[in-house]
Amino acid sequence: MAERFIDRLAGVEARLAAACARVGRERDEVRLLTVTKTQGPDAVAEAMAAGLTLFGENRVQEARAKIPLCAAAATWHLIGHLQSNKVREAVQLFALLQAVDSLRLLELVDRAAAEAGRTLPVFLEVNVSGERSKNGFAPEGVPEALAAANRLTHVEIRGLMTIPPVARDVEEARPFFRRLRELREGWRRVSGLALPDLSMGMSHDFEIAVEEGATMVRVGSALFGPRPPKGANDAGNE
Ligand SMILES: *Cc1c(COP(=O)(O)O)cnc(C)c1O
Repeated sequence: MAERFIDRLAGVEARLAAACARVGRERDEVRLLTVTKTQGPDAVAEAMAAGLTLFGENRVQEARAKIPLCAAAATWHLIGHLQSNKVREAVQLFALLQAVDSLRLLELVDRAAAEAGRTLPVFLEVNVSGERSKNGFAPEGVPEALAAANRLTHVEIRGLMTIPPVARDVEEARPFFRRLRELREGWRRVSGLALPDLSMGMSHDFEIAVEEGATMVRVGSALFGPRPPKGANDAGNE
């Protein structure tokens, strides 16, 4: 029998509340970002009916088709890699870009945001594990990007995002989440930026991320059920 969305949401909320309680955090210190990749506007509507308003898409192409069909009260974040030729469109579609992974991309977003007459909040994606296959700034590259924030007047670096290596045991993600939080402390000092947001944790490991200081968890399959197998729709990145 199909599980209902509101039941899955209740399960996610219970896990979030328990993780917050374990480390003495308030539930409202962590925002739940609902990942809607591969889901249609009907699924977004169902999530909104259940009170969710913050959504994430990982591909501009998919978001371009979906967002106009969804209620305007939804807020959209881009959580996947952004190609330079899609920056202008991304600036139109999204309230925040979570996967800015190079200084060059940060500069392009700044320029496109200036042209659009807005200031865009972004997160820098950090490749904490150093896996070659992964997008993201190497930790050594982050200070230069933070320093650039002084001259880039149409982007606001609000935080950091990371995706740990795939692991069988979710506990293996913990050192990467912890490391990002620790790196942030140093980067706050050198840059003077508050960097309030830490976007980390997905369906299988968000409790660990919350225990390690996540302010935003990105949850898809725990809310909507498993996605179709990789390949067809779920290319992962733009
Ligand atoms: C798909 C995706 C998620 C959500 O993954 P689930 O395992 O379905 O929760 C989170 N973050 C990013 C960057 C994603 O691409």
